[in-house]
Amino acid sequence: MKSSTHGAKKKIVLLDPASSHKFVDVFYNQNQMVTVQKILQYIEPIPIELRCLDVLNIFIDNTSLLIAPIVDEQHKPVGLIDRGRLTEIFFKPYARDLHHKKCIGEIMTTDPVIVDINTSIDDLANITINAGMRHMAHGFIVVENTLYVGMATGHRLLEEITHRKQQELYALAHYDQLTGVPNRLLFKDRLMQACQQAKRSKKPFALVFVDLDRFKYINDTLGHSFGDQLLINFAHRLSACVRESDTVARLGGDEFVVILQNLSEAVHAEKVAATMIDKIRQPMMILGREVNITASLGVALYPDHDDTVDGLIRKADAAMYVVKEKGRNGFLVFNESFDQNLSERNTFVTELKKAIVRQELALFYQPQIDTTTNQVVGVEALLRWYHPKQGLLLPGKFISVAEDVGLIVTIGEWVISEACRQQVEWRDQGLPPLRIAINVSAIQFRQQDFSWRVQQIIYEYGVDPNYIELELTETMVMANPLQTVSTMSELKAIGIKIAIDDFGTGHSSLSYLSQFPLDRIKIDQSFVRNIQNVKANNVIVKAIVAIGQSLGIGLIAEGVETEAELACIKSHNCHEIQGFYFTKPLPAHKFKDWLLQVFKAG
Ligand code: C2E
Ligand code: MG
Ligand code: MG
Repeated sequence: MKSSTHGAKKKIVLLDPASSHKFVDVFYNQNQMVTVQKILQYIEPIPIELRCLDVLNIFIDNTSLLIAPIVDEQHKPVGLIDRGRLTEIFFKPYARDLHHKKCIGEIMTTDPVIVDINTSIDDLANITINAGMRHMAHGFIVVENTLYVGMATGHRLLEEITHRKQQELYALAHYDQLTGVPNRLLFKDRLMQACQQAKRSKKPFALVFVDLDRFKYINDTLGHSFGDQLLINFAHRLSACVRESDTVARLGGDEFVVILQNLSEAVHAEKVAATMIDKIRQPMMILGREVNITASLGVALYPDHDDTVDGLIRKADAAMYVVKEKGRNGFLVFNESFDQNLSERNTFVTELKKAIVRQELALFYQPQIDTTTNQVVGVEALLRWYHPKQGLLLPGKFISVAEDVGLIVTIGEWVISEACRQQVEWRDQGLPPLRIAINVSAIQFRQQDFSWRVQQIIYEYGVDPNYIELELTETMVMANPLQTVSTMSELKAIGIKIAIDDFGTGHSSLSYLSQFPLDRIKIDQSFVRNIQNVKANNVIVKAIVAIGQSLGIGLIAEGVETEAELACIKSHNCHEIQGFYFTKPLPAHKFKDWLLQVFKAG
């Protein structure tokens, strides 16, 4: 009986098997097919023509022999004889006289399981189950090219299967299933060992916290399978930066840690961190698309900063957060002032969570003016937070935190609702209708039900969708053009307007604009700044205006502060303007006063 030899059906981790890193080995070996060869035992076979009495003597001489294979003249197995059956026959009265001259072939068991040496352990286990488990005790005859090579016992089979199961369970419990690197549990264990070893050897080691920058954004804009593949590649990249004895682990999400062991000097940790930053920055190909990613790294040293597992983790994490706050894409070694920083951030997040319920969020409004008619044609709603201790906070202080911790969707929906509510209030107060521009975060825009949610809010407040304009950024639009067009079309179908914010900063070609159903381009304030003196700004603004006009898309320049900037922008045929030149963003009641004053002045 020869069985098929398909291997164990286990997930193959997409890492380079040629890499010398341990985690790859663990997973890779598991997928190597384990065959009967592994549990093979050689037992001298008994030729079929041997007489029964001689066979009995073999069993009497070798007390540990429980079963023996029987082979024919070509050394092919034909049956089994077991000690029990033989002794049973020969203990009966007159049995010796009756049988001793017979050859063993006449009394052997004729249905042994014969398997090829390349049969997998899994298949062998299946054969045993299908054959009713009897062979678990008898064992299996193993052949190579049909010739006898040995026996495999059920006992060894069971041992092997149990051992493999244990390994599998160990891997499941200790390794991250996506990337194949150690998980939090194994990491903590390794970190503890590192502490003990460093104590004995008196050599320092470093713990590095690694967090991908803007991973949430990538995941939400380019999809989860893209994000998964990115994490796999990223784990591989990190591993390539360190020695085999070091540990790279994934704590969850986009959080990784590295233990750099046996440093001859603590400063070496900084060199490794710098190399990591460099390697991480190299362009990466994922699912046929090139992406550039960066990461923020925090380093804590044993024993300089802490000599406990939890202390080191907390301090490396604190250092990493400071890097994030300072603008990401870099590394910092822990220093005592960071500790304070971390607990401050945690408090900040808790406060932000409560900000909506406590009604601490507010919208400020900045007018948009058509300079050809001198009319106020629109208004941009800009988020503010009246922080209980820090006072009035600008979005730059808290939007990215809200994005990092997933609060942006709730906050973003609040912004849309509040803008609609305000518009209804102004309408009821008899003010002429104004187009209201609302900023949307990429994470919010990528929600499956985004357009449906917007529609619900608009209907709830009964505002005219033609007076709602959503501002998206260039990078956000370009990240996933197909999905963007589809969501934009749903929004446009109900009458909502779409503008591209901060235009010109996304480094993408102007020609793609025609693909999207846009109503307005907002020329970024960096091109407006001092435009009358900066030649490059002049050229760019001219180009943007020309393209906008040729595609029939409206234009607005933001951030106009001075008379000279205003004149120059107007001379380039961009007539809608927003900026401090007219007024800074104002709270709702002040904006209304400002508006009434403008009307009065005609
Ligand atoms: P943005 O959408 O490009 O908004 C324009 C920013 O430029 C505002 O900053 C505004 O106060 C400022 N600004 C306007 N005119 C001038 C000027 O003449 N000179 C200068 N120097 N600045 C001017 P703000 O309010 O701090 O908002 C910053 C960014 O925060 C916004 O940039 C927008 O991207 C984001 N943001 C604001 N509100 C929200 C919101 O409700 N949701 C989301 N997701 N993002 C928001
Ligand atoms: Mg805006
Ligand atoms: Mg802008």
